[in-house]
Amino acid sequence: MSKLLFAKLFYTLGVSNFLRKNKRDGITILNLHRVSPEEDYFWNPMKPASFESLLKYLIKHYNIIQFKEIEYTRNGSSKKPLAILSFDDGYKDFYEYALPLLVKYKLPSNHNIVNECAHHNKAIWTQRLNAVFNSAMNDKQSLEFVFEKTKFSIKDFKSWMAFYLSIFKKMLNMADAEREELISQKEHLIKINCKVEMMNWAEIAECASHKVEIGSHTFSHDVISTIKQPEILEKEITSSIKEINERLNQSTDIIAWPNGQTSNSAEAIALQAGIKYSLHVGEKINFSGEQPQNIFYRINLVEEPLSSIILRTELFYSKLKNYVGV
Ligand SMILES: [Zn+2]
Repeated sequence: MSKLLFAKLFYTLGVSNFLRKNKRDGITILNLHRVSPEEDYFWNPMKPASFESLLKYLIKHYNIIQFKEIEYTRNGSSKKPLAILSFDDGYKDFYEYALPLLVKYKLPSNHNIVNECAHHNKAIWTQRLNAVFNSAMNDKQSLEFVFEKTKFSIKDFKSWMAFYLSIFKKMLNMADAEREELISQKEHLIKINCKVEMMNWAEIAECASHKVEIGSHTFSHDVISTIKQPEILEKEITSSIKEINERLNQSTDIIAWPNGQTSNSAEAIALQAGIKYSLHVGEKINFSGEQPQNIFYRINLVEEPLSSIILRTELFYSKLKNYVGV
């Protein structure tokens, strides 16, 4: 049975209703990135129509709140389970496609932004890597990486996605300068210049005026777990928060770790900087007392058929993995 038929069957059987019942006082935090009609094979943006369908589903079955409401809505004051819509990166398509829908349905959300992207429209390294792979795959250009004298190319993998994920994981362990040089080299070879539109400070301020809680996604979107120097960690965390607060005249207590990677020293600096919500990635519902009280897990969503998006929201796939090991 195809994956789509499988998802549709389970959705029709009411599995999502059943799974939702187990959530009780738990908070479901959904992690979204781009909402756009554009296509990206390696990280497909959610289509605006899919996003609107997801919102309709959430409105029906959840009480959608902001992080700052957790304290007083948790523990039984809400009849429906709680959910938070948490966006990362600060793509301009949030402003163009997601914000109008959130305003239409009067829904709050959270968006964690990268200072350097808001300053000068910087493209995040993951987006640049996606652009390199999309271009190589579509134009059948040769793409080769060498790590410790071992070569990696599409010939070594079952699919372009497997090739991409393997290189992405290697880059997660690289220091910023080394990763930057490697991506620049490939961009030069393939002759591409990754152009994306990120929100500027004025657009971010406008979001904030429409019930979007603005948090930090660090200063540059470096891989935080690879940073050893305390002064660089301070810049990524404390300076990011300070600038967001000054520019938006607010006091943020939210940080989302890029690619879900962090370290004990980064967490300690964030706590010192007043962070109450340290956002990780993980297929988990947040129950009070199950983890340190400032740590929250988010379920990652990308474009998929609606039945799959909903089953993912209800953690169907991760539960299935636990039961049958698929
Ligand atoms: Zn990010």
